[in-house]
Amino acid sequence: MVTEPDRDAPVGKQRAIFACPRGHEFTRSFALDAEVPHEWECAHHGTRAPGLFRAATDQRDPATPGKTHWDHVLERRTEPDLEAILNDALARLARDRGETASIAPPHGSST
Ligand SMILES: [Zn+2]
Repeated sequence: MVTEPDRDAPVGKQRAIFACPRGHEFTRSFALDAEVPHEWECAHHGTRAPGLFRAATDQRDPATPGKTHWDHVLERRTEPDLEAILNDALARLARDRGETASIAPPHGSST
């Protein structure tokens, strides 16, 4: 069995996320013993991007600032989806109206 060290996934690296003032984020990997700078120059805009936070590479961060779950939801929204949401909202509205109408004032104990 040949086990070669994976050079693409080095252990002992830390990752820093920088926020470009132009409205996007990018990550940079640094050695664990290296000092992560507080800002990094954006490769696209040449602007100074302040660092957001640092995370070890072997630690998968569940919350990536750039892309939220909501972003995925918005991306996947299609017209049929919107139509279904609209229909659902209308149905709810109608049902709410029906329920409020069906609620009768309590009457009875006077005979
Ligand atoms: Zn940029």
